[in-house]
Amino acid sequence: MKKIIITLDGFSSCGKSTLAKQLARELNYVFIDSGAMYRAITLYFLRNRVDWNQDDAVQRALQDISLDFDYNDATGTSDMLLNDENVELLIRDMLVSEHVSEVAANKWVREFAVAQQQKMGEKKGIVMDGRDIGTTVFPNAELKIFVTADPAVRVERRYKEMFEKNPKITIEEVKDNLEMRDYIDSNREFSPLRKADDAVILDNTNLTREEQLAVALRWARDRIASL
Ligand code: C5P
Repeated sequence: MKKIIITLDGFSSCGKSTLAKQLARELNYVFIDSGAMYRAITLYFLRNRVDWNQDDAVQRALQDISLDFDYNDATGTSDMLLNDENVELLIRDMLVSEHVSEVAANKWVREFAVAQQQKMGEKKGIVMDGRDIGTTVFPNAELKIFVTADPAVRVERRYKEMFEKNPKITIEEVKDNLEMRDYIDSNREFSPLRKADDAVILDNTNLTREEQLAVALRWARDRIASL
């Protein structure tokens, strides 16, 4: 059976990672959360006080960063390793969320992450989610999905997820953060978030997880069968 590359792009918190994980499991593909890489770089910059507006400081710091994914049997997905340290939980922190879009807008940061992402796709059989995967990372991917959901639904979903880890968080904080990231991600100079011309749209506002998986899986199987 031929293997393909599946890309999932879209705004923050519209369920891309959930769907990407499910798809990868069903197809026996590798799931890669590209956002985790930008989050890990942001964590490193915050810890080491690297000014992401200074290109030379960024370039120097990137030389000291190594990113890896480590399969976690308990969760069935991969954890992010930053210089061999498991930072999977730390990178989901609000402090990282507050700065990740500024860091991800830096040209050198993007070059660094995109090169590694492209390498991971060399053997195909991957599902990668992010913002520029169908446009920049894998412009020739066999199946590109642009995931959308109503903004109020996205805030609600994200709030529930964040509340479990931090009951002090307010819905306004979550809403402001999503709006800010979407704005920066869509308006940055390098690889802004946009739908690839050949991507199919999946609006999951009124779909359950199972329903959205069924739609995407049908697209994937049709595409694989057509090769
Ligand atoms: O997917 P997630 O919300 O974890 O991504 C965190 C941030 O990383 C996004 O808000 C965006 O700024 C950046 N990102 C990106 N390109 C990607 C994936 C994520 O710029 N391919």
